[in-house]
Amino acid sequence: LFEFLFADGFGDRTDAPALIDGGSGASISFAQLHGMVVKIAAALAERGIGAGDVVALFAPNTPYWVAVFHGVLRANAIVTSANSLYTPGELAHQLADSGAKLLITIAPFLDRAVAAAEQAGLTGDAIITMDKAEGHPALADLLATTAEPPALTVTATDTAVLPYSSGTTGKAKGVVLTHRNLVANLLQIQPLIQVSPETKILAVLPFFHIYGMTVMMNQGVHGRSTVITMPKFDLVEFLRVISTHRIQRVYIAPPVAVALAKHQVVDSYDLSCIEVIVSGAAPLDAELGRAVARRLGCRVLQGYGMTEMSPVSHCIPDDRPDIDLNSVGFALPNMECKLVDPGTGKEVGPGERGELCCRGPNIMTGYLNNPEATAATLDADGFLHTGDVATVTDDGVFTIVDRVKELIKYKGYQVPPAELEALLLTHEKIADAAVIGVHDAEGEEVPKAFVVLQPGAALTEDEVMAFVAERIAPHKKVRVVEFIDAVPKSASGKILRKDLRAREPQAT
Ligand code: ATP
Ligand code: MG
Repeated sequence: LFEFLFADGFGDRTDAPALIDGGSGASISFAQLHGMVVKIAAALAERGIGAGDVVALFAPNTPYWVAVFHGVLRANAIVTSANSLYTPGELAHQLADSGAKLLITIAPFLDRAVAAAEQAGLTGDAIITMDKAEGHPALADLLATTAEPPALTVTATDTAVLPYSSGTTGKAKGVVLTHRNLVANLLQIQPLIQVSPETKILAVLPFFHIYGMTVMMNQGVHGRSTVITMPKFDLVEFLRVISTHRIQRVYIAPPVAVALAKHQVVDSYDLSCIEVIVSGAAPLDAELGRAVARRLGCRVLQGYGMTEMSPVSHCIPDDRPDIDLNSVGFALPNMECKLVDPGTGKEVGPGERGELCCRGPNIMTGYLNNPEATAATLDADGFLHTGDVATVTDDGVFTIVDRVKELIKYKGYQVPPAELEALLLTHEKIADAAVIGVHDAEGEEVPKAFVVLQPGAALTEDEVMAFVAERIAPHKKVRVVEFIDAVPKSASGKILRKDLRAREPQAT
């Protein structure tokens, strides 16, 4: 990946900004980024980090994150990127599971980092901070090295990164991705959603997650574009950064689309700079997406992927406004996709529902330390079983229905909770919603909706049920409603239905 992104130099982009910190406005040029990457690699090598060693990165998005990431890869080592929201226990699991030798973090995360490192058996000087902190070496010390970087010895089939899946359905799994996987996905994405040196890309979704890592960070560097980083999502700051930096390309997850469609404050900012918004990571409702497109006067696209695919396998191309936003568009080049009946394993035809299975150069080599999960996911022919149900048209346009495991089985019918959530969101008094299966008094599995109302709005449970019933086939009706303050969501923007199930005694 390093050679692919950096080896050819930067031409007339050498002194152009590669990265800008959205908060402070501080920027680093391509030449400076390259200089930092080489220094970090040299300093890591001095500390004995080299081929096969794992370095954990536990920090929010900043330009330094990018420099450290590529510095580790330039040192022939492997990055495991950890979720900024992790508790010490979760981080300790990732450190131990990945066998990390170093942990690079920021001062405000030190409490959690130190506790996790202790649990995982890492010593104090194995923690490096990107900013300055008492008692720990800092990034500035690495950058001050006078050593030369080691020779670049990695090959395409070596492991480059060990990101962890989002943990939406269970415990997060370590995913083994090679340099070839990461480069392949960049090349596959390029023809569908292009970036150019003029493109300013917003990176508000986390780099630790594969969507941010590939599509925001690496695609930005590859395109010689400028990536503007934000450490976390805050609607007002998000709008300010976009309008101040005149950002054209914004990658989001659906919760951001909900805010953009529904929040009043959006009208106070000049967002005419936005050309394209790409939503991924969770299902985007077409109605919601169109509302965002109308309000901001931009194109809204949807992509689909998963950590195991580096991550993108499908996307609506930039130049195909005719394609339904409910869909995730076409399979990327060099992706072979089929839909199979999970019961029989037989391929299903256009229009029929089946589990999406994909094969291509971006597919992981397997899960880390988990041969059972690998065997259950990658079949003998090299197809990855995504766990997602989809349909495809004759023209090759794919639509994701929901996860196989999340489908609610009502009297033999399969009800996708994502469809009901999308419908509930079209109600003007509903700010957010999530649906799971629960057992009713007869022991039947039925959809239950958790609904967050707009501030000051009032609705009864019956009104919510009636709203859904009027718009949907009878077997898909919502049969239980509960009002809650907020829908639990992961850092990568997914509804955590497992958290709702945990607090619901009747959950299926
Ligand atoms: P875990 O595997 O640990 O339970 P996860 O599957 O949420 O977590 P990720 O790899 O981050 O971890 O997410 C991939 C999943 O996200 C896909 O399998 C799919 O269910 C969902 N997803 C991604 N993009 C879309 C989309 N556009 N529409 C619907 N679902 C999507
Ligand atoms: Mg998954």
